[in-house]
Amino acid sequence: MRETSSDVLLRVENLSLGFRSNGRVTAVTEGVNFEIRRGEVFGLVGESGCGKTVTCLGLLRLLPVAGSTVLSGHAWYQGRDLLKLSTEEMRGIRGSEIAMIFQEPSAALNPLLTIRNQLLLPFKHHPYDGSPEKRIDDLLRRVGFSDPERVLRSYPHELSGGMLQRVMIAHALLLGPKLLLADEPTTALDVTVQAQILELLAELQREMGMSVVMITHNLNLVAQYANRAAVMYAGRIIEEGNATRLLEDPKHPYSRGLLDALPKLDGATHAPKPIPGSVPPAGHYPSGCRFRDRCPQAFDACKTDPTWTEPQAGRHVACHLYPHPSLMEVR
Ligand code: SF4
Repeated sequence: MRETSSDVLLRVENLSLGFRSNGRVTAVTEGVNFEIRRGEVFGLVGESGCGKTVTCLGLLRLLPVAGSTVLSGHAWYQGRDLLKLSTEEMRGIRGSEIAMIFQEPSAALNPLLTIRNQLLLPFKHHPYDGSPEKRIDDLLRRVGFSDPERVLRSYPHELSGGMLQRVMIAHALLLGPKLLLADEPTTALDVTVQAQILELLAELQREMGMSVVMITHNLNLVAQYANRAAVMYAGRIIEEGNATRLLEDPKHPYSRGLLDALPKLDGATHAPKPIPGSVPPAGHYPSGCRFRDRCPQAFDACKTDPTWTEPQAGRHVACHLYPHPSLMEVR
């Protein structure tokens, strides 16, 4: 057991996860640190392949046992380290305490089971005071279905992408989790449906007082919905702080690049500017700062690892453009 401050629900400390292949282990995340406070929305931002989803699957112990390993770290959830719990203890937490919404609802749902049978499954594995049928009916109505019975009779292929994502949200909330991990929950949806789903999630988060980790590549969404945010690149967190201030004034060149790559409302004068190149695969990161091959501001010092510094109160950045105070004293 470990004491954590009462407003912190989850504290991730120095988390490094690795994948095994051909007898070798390759680190895919390294030294990841963040905390989730009670009732807050926390944005985890970065391009595909930066380690956001792997981090969340690792916390829930959903990575393949034979192909992955925890190289270091802790995930303190209400005083218990999720990474040290038995399989049985973890099964008790998954769904009832911490739930996840996946990017692709059609891939996450079983095509051979009706929605009713899929929504009843969590109640078979967790104690529940009350009527599962009533809880399912209430939640389906809450996520926007006026005729839940019709949805319950359906198989996944009979519902649209937006309907499936609403079913997935209801599924994740059935047991009233304290923490919801939402992994790009609107990526597979039309733009108009995306906005509806995000508004719905925000409403439910406020109503239920849940904490939410919102995984996305879109800094605008984070600023709109999250209280705090961390930016991940190549398996490491490289900037974290207040979500709105991070959008208004990103400090790290990668965070700035993510913002510049987004379309702006005034279009012609601010055409989206993609970050050149792509995230290197795990095991092929450059030495020193992992962003240096793509960074427009790279200089000699970037061949060594940048240390964390706080260029602004509450904003932490790992970049040589913001020298650590102890290094400034030496100069
Ligand atoms: Fe760019 Fe250097 Fe900062 Fe890395 S440490 S983001 S290469 S300026």
